[in-house]
Amino acid sequence: MKPSEREEEYFARMEYEKKKKLEEEKHKKLAGADKQKQKELHYMMCPKCGMELIEIDYKGIKIDKCSECEGVWLDAGELEQIIGLDKGGLDKFFSIFKK
Ligand SMILES: [Zn+2]
Repeated sequence: MKPSEREEEYFARMEYEKKKKLEEEKHKKLAGADKQKQKELHYMMCPKCGMELIEIDYKGIKIDKCSECEGVWLDAGELEQIIGLDKGGLDKFFSIFKK
């Protein structure tokens, strides 16, 4: 890895951890009922445009794709699963989304 890459990785991680800490503080203040309400409001809705997400199951990886803006959303651990696909599997995976 080049020194500049290492630096970029470091700053991206710092930025993520700073933002995560801020959000965790906010979450602590939310009571259980408020959290439940947030989940009901946003579950399976696109975080960018607010429209419904469509769940696509490919080899046990459940990918959520927006019905409006075509954004693709992954749950925890799914990015690692996709990276683990072989070349053929990756091609098939991307062909699901082609128009
Ligand atoms: Zn969307």
